[in-house]
Amino acid sequence: MYQESLKDTIAAISTPPGQGGIGIVRVSGKESFNVADKVFSAKNKKKPSSFRGFSVHYGKVVDKKNNNQVVDEALITVMRSPKSYTAEDIVEISCHGGIASLKKILSLVLENGARLAQPGEFTKRAFLNGRMDLTQAEAVLDIIEAKTDSFLRSSVGQLKGDLTLELESIREHLMSAYTEAEAIVNFPEDDIDTSGRERLTLDIDQALNKVGALLSLSDQGRIMKEGAKIVICGKPNVGKSSLLNVFLKTPRAIVSEVKGTTRDTIEEFTQMKGIPLQLVDTAGILRPRNSIEKEAVRRSHLNIDQADLIIFMIDSSERISKEDQKIIDQVKEKNVIVVLNKADKKCRTDVEKIRKQLFDSVQIKVSALTREGIDVLEDMIVKNILHGKEFQESEIVISNVRQIESLKKCAQALKSVRQHFLNKLSLEFVSEDIKLAIDFLDRITGKNISEDLLDKIFSSFCIGK
Ligand code: GDP
Repeated sequence: MYQESLKDTIAAISTPPGQGGIGIVRVSGKESFNVADKVFSAKNKKKPSSFRGFSVHYGKVVDKKNNNQVVDEALITVMRSPKSYTAEDIVEISCHGGIASLKKILSLVLENGARLAQPGEFTKRAFLNGRMDLTQAEAVLDIIEAKTDSFLRSSVGQLKGDLTLELESIREHLMSAYTEAEAIVNFPEDDIDTSGRERLTLDIDQALNKVGALLSLSDQGRIMKEGAKIVICGKPNVGKSSLLNVFLKTPRAIVSEVKGTTRDTIEEFTQMKGIPLQLVDTAGILRPRNSIEKEAVRRSHLNIDQADLIIFMIDSSERISKEDQKIIDQVKEKNVIVVLNKADKKCRTDVEKIRKQLFDSVQIKVSALTREGIDVLEDMIVKNILHGKEFQESEIVISNVRQIESLKKCAQALKSVRQHFLNKLSLEFVSEDIKLAIDFLDRITGKNISEDLLDKIFSSFCIGK
């Protein structure tokens, strides 16, 4: 298998594919300046390898093997190790953002001593060269992918090192608890007063409190990152698409009097009272007639399973039908808000019958047509997905599934330490579990992580980042 080496000089197009005002080819590694000398001809006649760090120069990219043919006019930015994104020598060539020009410049750079970068390899180098820890590297990806202001703010905080500092402070408590436990195990004769054990317990409690605080915000973190998944379901023609359009504030879903117009699920990303939501309008098909409709029904079921909240909609101007009943049976065990739509018409629905079957849910009468009740419904949705808590704009919000899983395991190990205290077990067990907790913490920051996992994390980055 191909092995990456930190010794290689790597290059990639760092701007998105397509046409743009400018495009950037980025080169990082020991040979960066030599490569630049071979492909760039500066207006001031100086060689890029002689430029100061953090300086920008105008010139031309030339194909020297091809009669010094000018490929494009460009600006070259020079960053010298260790003051660069990767902590290596970096050259960025900013040219006109057309794909032909970018590709030609990249191929010239590759012919002259660089090799093509793997996805995320620039950021991986920043991590391996100690420029940032793994939480910061992952924050880079989050910033690129951020869809909301609040998530962008927390990702920038993570890149700044806010999470790193918090994890370091937890680690300090654990290290001091570990040292204390080891001292008592190895020098039991010194364990005459109880102050050592008290310090140990205090450190464990403080670490556990901090881990708990991070975990308690992780659910919000996930919602900030991905948006809560809200699935609107109901039989055809109850007004699902109309409600979706009201939420989106722009007509997106097709609203029609012809039953079953929504043939497939429609997914939209929006914000409700500042909370990012992934809204899914399911196909209201109950008896699929062909393979396409069967697939739509399968997707509806999948969406219902994965939903944070289900909005079960019925047409309150009609009696409950078999079709409504079928959906009630599907969503019985889920987190549901029952929306009685078409409140502008006379109510013919047996509301009590629904209440009895979906007794954990709340009901609300609305009209997607006149917008009556919509504001109250939006409040209800937000309250439901935040479990009644206020949305906290904290900068240290952990949202990454990998980080959350490691933190949960760290908390488990610490809880088991507490249990050992209660059971008055030997401190050897205690020290072993503290070590385990430290290991899990180190997996988050990348101090202790396998090569495979590292590859997996960075492979989700784009090429050029
Ligand atoms: P879907 O099949 O569940 O997505 O339903 P649509 O949103 O396509 O709506 C079906 C029909 O009901 C359309 O003619 C809408 O204009 C109408 N409709 C939707 N909401 C309301 C409402 O609150 N009141 C009334 N009177 N009609 C509505």
